[in-house]
Amino acid sequence: MTSRVRSRRVLLAACSIVIVATVTPLSALPATAATAGAVTAVAPAPDAVALDPALVLARGDGSPSVFYRKTRETVEISAVPLDTAETARLATVPGQHLSQVVAAGYYLPKGTDLVLDVVIPPGGTLTVGIGTPDMTIADTGDKAKGEMRFTDVSASGRVTVTDTYGVGGEVYLALTGPVAAGQHARVAFPASSGARPLPFFQWGVTTPAQFRQQLGDLPDAPRAQLMGPHTLLTLERATALKYQDQDQDRLLAIYEKAIAAEDALVGLDGSSPRHSRSPLPFHFVFSDYLDIGGAYTSKGFMAIGPTWTYWSLKLAELAKPDHEAVWHEVGHVQQPRAVSGTGYTERDVDIYGNAAIRAVTGQPGLDKSTWDKALDDIAGWKAGVDDAAKRSDAHRWSQVACLDQIRIQSGDRYWADMHKLIRDNAFPTLKAQGDTAFPVYASAAAGYNVAPHFERCGYPVTPDAKTYLTTLNLPTAPAELPTRSEWPQP
Ligand SMILES: [Zn+2]
Repeated sequence: MTSRVRSRRVLLAACSIVIVATVTPLSALPATAATAGAVTAVAPAPDAVALDPALVLARGDGSPSVFYRKTRETVEISAVPLDTAETARLATVPGQHLSQVVAAGYYLPKGTDLVLDVVIPPGGTLTVGIGTPDMTIADTGDKAKGEMRFTDVSASGRVTVTDTYGVGGEVYLALTGPVAAGQHARVAFPASSGARPLPFFQWGVTTPAQFRQQLGDLPDAPRAQLMGPHTLLTLERATALKYQDQDQDRLLAIYEKAIAAEDALVGLDGSSPRHSRSPLPFHFVFSDYLDIGGAYTSKGFMAIGPTWTYWSLKLAELAKPDHEAVWHEVGHVQQPRAVSGTGYTERDVDIYGNAAIRAVTGQPGLDKSTWDKALDDIAGWKAGVDDAAKRSDAHRWSQVACLDQIRIQSGDRYWADMHKLIRDNAFPTLKAQGDTAFPVYASAAAGYNVAPHFERCGYPVTPDAKTYLTTLNLPTAPAELPTRSEWPQP
């Protein structure tokens, strides 16, 4: 057994999806909501901000970044869609979504009000978030520490945001519209803001040496943050210190590459607004204050526990195909509702994680011994026989391999095409449930009926799916499909 299989098996056992009903979605929060802080505007509204072109950083796909640091005390942000709108556009699972907010590079100490000088373009709403998200804290009693508190501000001027729980945390920002093209919000932290800077690494702007200097200069900051166009990492400062020798430029480059690979897998190729990458970041919260076991994905963030931190912040470990932990969590955010089926969610998200592994390591998504075992398993499996055994831990990776055989047979466009069909709602009368929708969308993208292959490999296919597939009148799958592998076969 390889270390890869061992490590992944632990991940599968530990990973969970936490949806805590008591956390109100940002988009549903009015400024006066009970969980939001009070806000008071006392100064006249200045003019709207036109962004300084010199501050615009290109994202990986050429579009401008959302966040721009003008000075240490002033940041500018461009408008983003609501996370709920992105969940609808991407047809993903509500409760496992991208982060609405970006990091401001500041934290608010306990018992402190936050004072900001803000310029908000007409029609815009500035959302101020305070806190460090980790639902395990909320679940185990210290609820205030586990929820980010959001306050909406719509008027420019000096504003005071009261942290309702009074426990402080990082400061986050978002601008939502409608605002005119080219308009941005400017947020300044005056000397009297109450907030204090934290070690903050902005990819392409901050050098690793500057970041290490900040770690030394800001000993009271509880946490440090690293941000790229699609990536936000929140770490305990002690964790950042521990891994400070890891080149932060390269570290964020790996995260950006992995996310780009998963975005490509799901067909976010920019061919239309519906199929474009999201401007909202993937927020990884490295939680060292409570051992959450492995990792989990929730609303607007993915929490990575101490067990996985070592693999997730060390360049040499990320370069190995063994460690897919954080990319698996990204998969939970990528996964459409139509692919989220009964009993196999933890396996099909590894399709996304494996795409990241291929991009980051240049190696196949699964190692050769795992594939060899999978081919043996699949060769012996018959549709509808011993399904419970197929779904047992002993065969989990064989099931992942089985799903990916369709990509290997049909080409890399297969998964992208399938996700585009889902976002296009190509089969509007189809039930969204994964057991029904997944085999139908997969068949349509592949160009042949994959339902028998799904059933051979222990994935359920509902009678409704089979009925629907008869109306598509697709040919049967190629006979060699169950023999396909990422590794050359003799
Ligand atoms: Zn998982």
